[in-house]
Amino acid sequence: MKEDVLNVENLSYSYVNGVKVLKNVNLKIYEKELVGIIGPNGSGKTTLLKCIAGVLRNYEGKIQIFKREVKTFNRKEVAKIITFVSQSFSPAFDFTVKEIVQMGRIPYHKLFQSSIIGDQKIVDDTILALDLKGFENRVFNNLSEGEKRRVVFAKALAQDTSILLLDEPFAHLDINYSYEMARLIQSKVKEYGKTVLGVFHNLNMASLFCDKIVVMSDGKIIAEGTPEEVYKEDIINRAFKTNCTIISHPKVSKPQVLINWS
Ligand code: ADP
Repeated sequence: MKEDVLNVENLSYSYVNGVKVLKNVNLKIYEKELVGIIGPNGSGKTTLLKCIAGVLRNYEGKIQIFKREVKTFNRKEVAKIITFVSQSFSPAFDFTVKEIVQMGRIPYHKLFQSSIIGDQKIVDDTILALDLKGFENRVFNNLSEGEKRRVVFAKALAQDTSILLLDEPFAHLDINYSYEMARLIQSKVKEYGKTVLGVFHNLNMASLFCDKIVVMSDGKIIAEGTPEEVYKEDIINRAFKTNCTIISHPKVSKPQVLINWS
C-alpha cells in the first residue's frame, strides 16, 4: 500500500471572527506525486498551503506530514521537510544569486553558524543543475522575472526537503518561460524524488504539468483526481462560475479549457 506523505483531515481555518475560509478539507498526498490545486480567487488555496507549511498554526483538524502533526514541529524542523515557495520573493538587500541559493541551507545551521560541511557542494551542484553557472555573482534584484524564478527554485532545491509547496510558480512568466519553468520543475522533482503540491492559476498548464488535480471552491475541495477526471465542464464551470468548454489537447491528449465567448 502506498504511504501518504501528507494527510489533511477535517481542516478548517478562519482568519477573523470565526469566518471559515477552509471548511472541513480532506486531502491525502502520496510520495512523489505532483499535485495541483486550482480554484477561483479567494477559494482558500494559499491558506491551505500556509496551513500545511506550518505558517498558519491555529487551524482546526489534522495536518500530518509523515504521520506527525505539523503543529508539533518547530519552524526549523518544518523547514527541513517542507519548502514553501511563495508567490513573491523580493529581498530588501542586493544579494547575489549565490547568496540567495545559500539561504536555502539556513534551516540546517545552528545559531550563529553561517555554513556547515556539505553546504558548498549542494549550492554549487544546484547552481549547475539549474543552469545558473555564470549568474552566481549577479544581483538577484536586477534579474528578469524568469531568471528570478529559476533562482528561487534553486534556493528551494538547495533546501533539500522531500516536499515542495509552490504558490503559483508560473505567475508573471510569459508562455515560453512558463513552459521552461514547468519542464525544469517537473524534471528536477522527478530526478530528486520530491512530492509537490502547487497552486496554479493557469488551468491548461496545470493539466499538462500535474499528475493529480484538486479543485477548490469556497473553502472546500469539490473534486480531485487526474486532469482527465476533474476537467469536466460541470466541475470547472461550477467552481469558477464560468462558461467554458473542455477539449483534449490535439498533441498530448490532456484536457484543456477554452472560454466560451458569447
Ligand atoms: P486563494 O489563494 O484561493 O485566492 P486565499 O487563501 O488567499 O485564497 O484567501 C481565502 C480567503 O481568506 C479570502 O476570502 C481572503 O480574503 C481571506 N484572507 C486571506 N488572507 C487573509 C488575512 N491575512 N486576513 C484575513 N483574511 C484573509
